[in-house]
Amino acid sequence: MFIDKTTVRFKAGEGGNGIVSFRRERYVAYGGPDGGDGGHGGDVVLLSSFNQNTLANFRFQKELNGGSGKPGQSSDKHGRNGADLIVEVPVGTVIYAEDEHVLADMTEDGQKTVLAHGGHGGFGNAHFTSSTRQTPRVAEKGEPGQEFMATMELKMIADVGLVGLPNAGKSTFLASLSNAKPEIADYPFTTLVPNLGIVPVNKENSLLVADIPGLIEGASEGKGLGDDFLRHIERTKVLVHLVDAWSEDVCAAYKTIVGELKAYKIDLSGKPQLVVLSKIDGLDQDIIDDQAKQLKKVVPKGQQIFAISALSHTGTQELLYAVLKVVQEARETELEIAENTLPVIGIKEDEYAWRITKEEDIFVVRGRKIERFVARAHTDTEEGERRIRDIMGKMGILSGLQRDGIEAGQKIRIANYTTEY
Ligand code: GDP
Ligand code: MG
Repeated sequence: MFIDKTTVRFKAGEGGNGIVSFRRERYVAYGGPDGGDGGHGGDVVLLSSFNQNTLANFRFQKELNGGSGKPGQSSDKHGRNGADLIVEVPVGTVIYAEDEHVLADMTEDGQKTVLAHGGHGGFGNAHFTSSTRQTPRVAEKGEPGQEFMATMELKMIADVGLVGLPNAGKSTFLASLSNAKPEIADYPFTTLVPNLGIVPVNKENSLLVADIPGLIEGASEGKGLGDDFLRHIERTKVLVHLVDAWSEDVCAAYKTIVGELKAYKIDLSGKPQLVVLSKIDGLDQDIIDDQAKQLKKVVPKGQQIFAISALSHTGTQELLYAVLKVVQEARETELEIAENTLPVIGIKEDEYAWRITKEEDIFVVRGRKIERFVARAHTDTEEGERRIRDIMGKMGILSGLQRDGIEAGQKIRIANYTTEY
């Protein structure tokens, strides 16, 4: 699992101000108060989707804002509510607060979670009439929206493995198409796994591409690449096989790699492959056509052959769309399986993290570890109850509850276990 991680400011919209206004009536100096309430600020809402598979977008958009509510109007008119900001994130994104509590865990396609709540609109003066105060000149200000920094983290599997003879143009392909410019240095994994890049395909989609260097040079023994990395490569959904269009014998080049893939420590030969003639800039079209024709003889039937230049970006977009299509077909179930079988490269999630939220009058404690303890404890026995309490003490949850103002007799819920403080 590769870890993609980025920190973003979430800022929900502020509520609009309520206003002070009085009805204008003929013959009456002051009509009744009619200042309307401000609109509510928009929320920042996360929506998880299989369309997304990296957090690459958030490298450029470091602040996510909900719309502001509009002020109230006279005639008791409510100000317009601010628009919610819907933020699409990949399925599998976990959002952490600065203190590392899990704020949201986006596990399913289509899941919607309000991360930052918009502020309430302020009351207009129409709200403040009473028998003793008939001409209230007060209105409330809108409430600020919730605002905080949070870290989004996503465990990823490389979608695409790049293969080809040395000098086929793999590194250049990755460098020219991925945002492997200075920004990529923000990514923790770049230092751990240098041959990995995020390649944007269109506004909504990007691909995680792994350069698999060293084929031929003792590659079937996986030389140069750690075992962990190889196991990740094993999970890639599609291989892009680059063949230098300037090769004297493209068929030989192609076959050499196919042979290597079979002999590789892990068998990659069964993966869907897209065959690509690379470096076509500077070549006449009839030469390119001829090379493609040669390749066609050895490439399995029905398999399309692409021609690109990474340098001039010729044909790359078509290739990326074709790759994306294959990847999307394979994407859905893969992560779940890999979650249990792959080692994590990068920063480990703190499974001891927990978080308390108050829902109605119940203090709800969430956290992977504590929920597991509860699931295993015999909560219907005194012994089991005591054990959970001990663990909550050790993990600092009890003091957390106290900080949050819990009082004797109030209810605590952890997963489906409810107890009293
Ligand atoms: P790798 O060994 O497969 O990673 O290949 P590299 O990306 O290192 O490329 C090998 C050589 O081919 C380098 O000198 C590159 O500049 C050159 N090269 C790569 N892609 C292109 C391309 O699209 N056009 C041209 N003209 N040269 C390229
Ligand atoms: Mg290279």
